[in-house]
Amino acid sequence: MKTMITDKWNRPLHDLRISVTDRCNFRCQYCMPTDQFGPNFVFLPREALLTFEEIERLATIFVGLGVTKIRLTGGEPLLRKDLPGLVEKLSSIEGLEDIGLTTNGVLLAKLAADLKKAGLKRVNISLDSLNDELFGKINGRNIGTKPVLDGIAAAKAVDLGIKINMVVKKGVNDSEIIPMAEFCKKEGIQLRFIEFMDVGSTNGWKMDDVVTKKEIYEILKRHFKLQALEPTYFGEVAKLYQYTDSNMSVGFITSVSEAFCGSCTRARLSASGQIYTCLFNGNGHNLRDFMRNGATDEQLRHRIMDIWSQRTDRYSEERKTVTTHSLPKIEMSFIGG
Ligand code: SAM
Ligand code: SF4
Ligand code: SF4
Repeated sequence: MKTMITDKWNRPLHDLRISVTDRCNFRCQYCMPTDQFGPNFVFLPREALLTFEEIERLATIFVGLGVTKIRLTGGEPLLRKDLPGLVEKLSSIEGLEDIGLTTNGVLLAKLAADLKKAGLKRVNISLDSLNDELFGKINGRNIGTKPVLDGIAAAKAVDLGIKINMVVKKGVNDSEIIPMAEFCKKEGIQLRFIEFMDVGSTNGWKMDDVVTKKEIYEILKRHFKLQALEPTYFGEVAKLYQYTDSNMSVGFITSVSEAFCGSCTRARLSASGQIYTCLFNGNGHNLRDFMRNGATDEQLRHRIMDIWSQRTDRYSEERKTVTTHSLPKIEMSFIGG
């Protein structure tokens, strides 16, 4: 039986994002810049990572507390050995309606069929440019678009739901807004523009580097006719617009310019078993050690209920008014977006 829990602002717990690794085969400038995540960077040791059994156990407890959707992320989640094995375990959790994955897509061509067979429903693929040279620069590894495009094709071939995420950074890839929109429209894939966010402390974020939804929309409007769509459910992150000449839509994730904390129903579980209640609140709650020290399911359940019921986070809404946040920072590559 499900228990519904709400936080201090009456927001229910609906979604769980699970990071399965803090490692990545890319070094995107806005997430893991090479000067900060170089060859000497120390990633989590293997024994620090939750095992698949531990993830399944926690996920089952979360589902009992109202979670209906799980998204696997990272670092790069496809680097975690046998990820389809984890998807299969999660698929068997009664009451879980949806399992998604966010990936840079490089390893997807190899894994799409196994992931689909294991029960994955949807995949969000990050792609910031169609220009090989620019893309190679953004991902910090000089990897061209081909492996990602192959990954998209493989996901399509096995009928996974696909969305493409594009982080737009001023003067870097704003020239790619129209080519990306045209490509996704032609491919029948929803493109979501993500505003460059001030997550962590390594990406040198400045407001001047953000291309806001309004600015992107103005650029799109010169090429396409768009019509705003109503949100289809509480907590829908993207603001959607439909192309008037097709049934395709395009979305915006406006974390910086139009905060959506009021409907934020997401908890985040790091690869090392910490729960975070906001992308911008680095105060994690260590469930891994509690579990490894012998906590029962009931004790874990109560711990999660306590954490969620104390939650007050609304960082994006406060960004403009609170200038001296004392919250510890956490990196996007650690928490998973
Ligand atoms: N490696 C996978 C990927 O890139 O899709 C999953 C993890 S990544 C941290 C999740 C998402 O966060 C990606 O779509 C990425 O583009 C986005 N992201 C990372 N850093 C960001 C930032 N500073 N601002 C906005 N989005 C960011
Ligand atoms: Fe890796 Fe994803 Fe971060 Fe890029 S955004 S560095 S692919 S974790
Ligand atoms: Fe949710 Fe925190 Fe983002 Fe607000 S700032 S939407 S509370 S993750």
